[in-house]
Amino acid sequence: MKPLAYRRVLLKLSGEALMGSLDYGIDPAVIGRIAREIIEAREAGAEIALVIGGGNIFRGAGLAAGGMDRVTGDQMGMLATVINALAMQDALEKLGGRVRVMSAIKINDVCEDYIRRRAVRHLEKGRIAIFAAGTGNPFFTTDSGAALRAIEIDADLLLKATKVDGVYDKDPSKHADAVRYDQLTYDQVITQNLQVMDTAAFALCRDSDVPLRIYDLSEPGNLMRILQGEPIGTLVQGRS
Ligand code: UDP
Repeated sequence: MKPLAYRRVLLKLSGEALMGSLDYGIDPAVIGRIAREIIEAREAGAEIALVIGGGNIFRGAGLAAGGMDRVTGDQMGMLATVINALAMQDALEKLGGRVRVMSAIKINDVCEDYIRRRAVRHLEKGRIAIFAAGTGNPFFTTDSGAALRAIEIDADLLLKATKVDGVYDKDPSKHADAVRYDQLTYDQVITQNLQVMDTAAFALCRDSDVPLRIYDLSEPGNLMRILQGEPIGTLVQGRS
């Protein structure tokens, strides 16, 4: 097997990634497939941390658009990420993984509280750490949670798994001539106004210069190939 190019990675999965073809919730077959890829990467020696969104259940902005108080909606969204984290923990444990869910909001009858030093210890011991509840604050997204945690645990790479195979100059679902970038600097993403992550998350990544790779989750084997150094998707790093 090829040696790994990265030791410690943080993988951000959107809640929608767990839905598969369903309209809501979690598709067991999809979460099982993602879990198998994560276990494979772990067994190859990578230290894996996960941040999972909650968009397959609730998003605060959507709830607020329907008339709900925004902070309450965001708290519901954060709890949705805990539900997804528990589902992923279960899927990983069924495959023999050792997993700890750590939440940014205190909910310690169902999982641990997020404590940075403890999180790093879990990773060093070969456990998969799932960071739930985003940043713990309303008005943020789990992209910001992923950026923050990646920096805190000193990840070598932040991976954002999406439905698209990288960053394009325009929406590839609407424009047949859209061009995909193999590599971008953080400054290029800003000057070309490319959609990579929300602004708060992006600012965190840029300021810490954490390498960020955006890739297509639906292509089996991509996670392992990326960890072995293959240039899959789009890599964002550095200044112009
Ligand atoms: N959320 C929040 N603070 C955070 C992270 C998430 O308030 O730090 C809430 C917010 O309402 C968000 C929801 O949780 O819409 C679900 O997260 P997100 O939208 O990032 O999920 P994804 O789109 O990745 O599935």
